[in-house]
Amino acid sequence: MRWLELTVEAHSEAVEAVSEIFGRLGRGAAVRPTHLIRDPDDELAVREDPSAPYLLTAHVPDDPEAPAAIESTERALWHLQAFGLGPIGKLRVARVDDGDWAEAWKRGYAPQRIGRIVIVPSWLDEPMAPGEVAIRLDPGMAFGTGLHPTTRGCLTLLQRVEPMPDRCLDVGTGSGILGLAALRLGARRVVGLDTDPIAVTAATANAALNELADRFEARRGTISLEQGVAEEPFPLILANLVATLLIELAPALSAHAAPGGTLIASGIIEPRADEVLASLDAARFDLVERLEDGEWVSLRLERPA
Ligand code: SAH
Repeated sequence: MRWLELTVEAHSEAVEAVSEIFGRLGRGAAVRPTHLIRDPDDELAVREDPSAPYLLTAHVPDDPEAPAAIESTERALWHLQAFGLGPIGKLRVARVDDGDWAEAWKRGYAPQRIGRIVIVPSWLDEPMAPGEVAIRLDPGMAFGTGLHPTTRGCLTLLQRVEPMPDRCLDVGTGSGILGLAALRLGARRVVGLDTDPIAVTAATANAALNELADRFEARRGTISLEQGVAEEPFPLILANLVATLLIELAPALSAHAAPGGTLIASGIIEPRADEVLASLDAARFDLVERLEDGEWVSLRLERPA
């Protein structure tokens, strides 16, 4: 499904009114501050800079009704401008699709707990309870901030892998979140692959932020049957991609999995789960656990010894 992403910059005084207009569109309206003020004496005291503009986004299905919805939004913003509520920027419209993860990832600014894993935005300081492990992430940089149901699904399933194997391959690493979690849970080395150079840069930076740079190797690329990414197959593979890619990459995932190894696969919308499972089954993976969160399915599988 294709979506249109509407974005506008607005002064803090206009944020509420613009949110209201975007809210009428009915889909995932979000507000993000463009600038945060940090208190040098108290890292927890981060607040939004009210003098800087805010970025507001909303999504509408890219269907025949979209032009009318955009037009009425534009008109409402124009009317708002007339109230003199501080400047409102020009409405920008971009086309995105389900495979476009930039759209799917809603960026969050609060620490999030998924089991014992705590995702902490890079500028925050969050106390850890006993047994918890922190992953610091800069959410501005790439996709995978821990909020998306597929990332959460993978992080949940990752905590079921006992004992944590030494080596892990993270296919479609994005921000590096899953690979970094594997390291925090006891893995010693992670290879993170991504076709997007921005993701490779972000994963590398996030590894450094977590002081795990020497154990996390982010590379641009993907897996294939022709070319192995390491001398030896991996006892753990993480692949939070999309259904089509998982189906296409199933044989390559299998070729990179060690006998007895685990595959955690996600990014699967429910209606396509059976198809993905059939491909993974044909590639000799056995299903161990299936998690559902809304319309998203995450899978834990094993490659029999
Ligand atoms: N692992 C992160 C990010 C998942 S988003 C998380 O779980 O939150 C999926 C990522 O896969 C994106 O960063 C995208 O650039 C990457 N990707 C897309 N196609 C790919 C392919 N064929 N091989 C490797 N990575 C791919």
